[in-house]
Amino acid sequence: MAGPAPYACRPDVSRGRRHPEPPPAGRTDFQRDRDRIIHCSAFRRLEYKTQVFLNHEGDLFRTRLTHSIEVAQIARTLARNLAVNEDLTEAIALAHDLGHTPFGHAGQDELNACLRERVPEAGGFEHNLQSLRVVDELEERYAAFNGLNLCFETREGILKHCSRGHARRLGDVGARFLDGTQPSLEAQLTNLADEIAYNNHDVDDGLRSGLITVRQLLDVDIFAAHHEQVLRRHPGVDPKRLVSEVIRAMINTLVQDLTRTTADRLGRLRPQSVDEVRAGPPLAAFSDEVRVQADALKQFLLKNLYRHFQVMRMTGKARRVVRELFRAFQEDPRLLADEYRREDPVDQARAIADYIAGMTDRYAIREHRAIYRMD
Ligand code: MG
Repeated sequence: MAGPAPYACRPDVSRGRRHPEPPPAGRTDFQRDRDRIIHCSAFRRLEYKTQVFLNHEGDLFRTRLTHSIEVAQIARTLARNLAVNEDLTEAIALAHDLGHTPFGHAGQDELNACLRERVPEAGGFEHNLQSLRVVDELEERYAAFNGLNLCFETREGILKHCSRGHARRLGDVGARFLDGTQPSLEAQLTNLADEIAYNNHDVDDGLRSGLITVRQLLDVDIFAAHHEQVLRRHPGVDPKRLVSEVIRAMINTLVQDLTRTTADRLGRLRPQSVDEVRAGPPLAAFSDEVRVQADALKQFLLKNLYRHFQVMRMTGKARRVVRELFRAFQEDPRLLADEYRREDPVDQARAIADYIAGMTDRYAIREHRAIYRMD
């Protein structure tokens, strides 16, 4: 097997950690980052946070934890195919959703709305930024610093999106959102691995829940094409196995297309270092044809699953829990344990957001009950 490509991130020439530490013995700095992520408490909480279906709705649905593991699996395959750093992609993938609120996107949107309405100076809530905040500030595990003190390259990958206002305050890791440069190839690939993972597992979970059907999905080109191929190879296959064969074939097509298209771009542009990757155009991409197909699948899921009335009922309840928790704590901070109390109102709002964002689904429901009900 060939060594790392010249455009790969290398742990021995990392841009380093915010608090300098001696290099680890017996593993690289990127392995250490991955290991720190796996051992942190925010990572364990992912097990009880909603991806699309509430954690208690069924034992077989994805949670944020199993989603993150699937992203890591796909990202590592991509990294190995393209000779970039696998440990770094794995670290980014496992950490990318650490800042997610309870109740999936509904929880995050509601927390953002609460902050913006009630304390506009606090600058709202962005889940990518919160993931960075978890690893930079909120984890309390080390004697010498707050957070996990991860390498620049891991932090760069975790911060997928960021508004310009926040980017200005973040220093080195925010700079690319102001000067329009790219992150490392490891970060670009992990970002697309996230998309491959959720599009496919949401099809799987959606079918399992009964909220969407195979018949509906046959209107989506990428699904229909693979469905036909599997049936040709395995006529009369059991319907459950058929679905899982279609999904594994779709993941495979997407991974291979992404690998090929990215390899073509690398072959044309020949970046000689990570800095050349950062300065150039985006490198990780699907072919135009597959991009169109993946977008159509995404649109299908948006219309038929994420906005399904049964999902909307769940998200409506989730929004109410988040809104009412935020309001109760903000109007009377004495309801908060001492560790979440702050003098300054903007700091207080941020501490409340950190507290709510860190909750698992069931913890949030329990807190809501404790505050609003006597029984
Ligand atoms: Mg994700």
